[in-house]
Amino acid sequence: MRFIFLGPPGIGKGTIAARVIGKLNIPQISTGDLLRSAVRAGTEVGIKAREHMNSGGLVPDELVISLLKDRLGEDDCKDGFILDGFPRTIPQAKALENNGITVDGVINFVASKQVIIQRLSGRRVCKRCGAIFHLTNIPPKVEDICDRCNGELYQRKDDTPEIIVERLEVYKKQTEPLIAYYENQGILHNVSAEGSHIPDLVDSTLAVMQQSDQ
Ligand code: AMP
Repeated sequence: MRFIFLGPPGIGKGTIAARVIGKLNIPQISTGDLLRSAVRAGTEVGIKAREHMNSGGLVPDELVISLLKDRLGEDDCKDGFILDGFPRTIPQAKALENNGITVDGVINFVASKQVIIQRLSGRRVCKRCGAIFHLTNIPPKVEDICDRCNGELYQRKDDTPEIIVERLEVYKKQTEPLIAYYENQGILHNVSAEGSHIPDLVDSTLAVMQQSDQ
């Protein structure tokens, strides 16, 4: 099973992917997570990526593509994967194809702008394991502490109001054209992410994935 999860930042792709992979036994490959690890580790890619990420812009295609190719070459990707946050531009989509990486389907998550902004501004992430929480939708049992590993929760630098506006603009200009791109290939499936009951969102996503994999 090879799927792309598409949708604006904050729609819940990462949260849904993290739960879906538990049921399918395939990894979730988030280019945002790969880039944040590179930034933390201070690698050459991380140093080049940092400013773009902090300002809400996209990291240049060649940097992200090289990170992703390395990751997809790892053993755990052999039986499939979910790409979360990649591709984000048409050239990135073409890079997948040029490298012989085909997918079974593209899940396009859809919700109103209001819901997206509420999700982004309330998001908290575990510093240690990357688990995603939300102040009201997925509150941790103990304030600011991860339920899973007891790590400290933080608000991402790019989840602040000015940067959120920029990221949504960038999405509209650079990523939204992928919807038509994959629609034309006949592999796009829309899933509503409007509701905030996560098990329901996971179930409807799984149902669409299983249907399109047959
Ligand atoms: P995310 O965790 O998916 O919201 O990504 C956080 C930030 O990482 C984005 O705002 C971009 O700066 C960068 N990023 C993640 N994935 C990509 C990608 N596929 N192409 C370019 N930049 C990316």
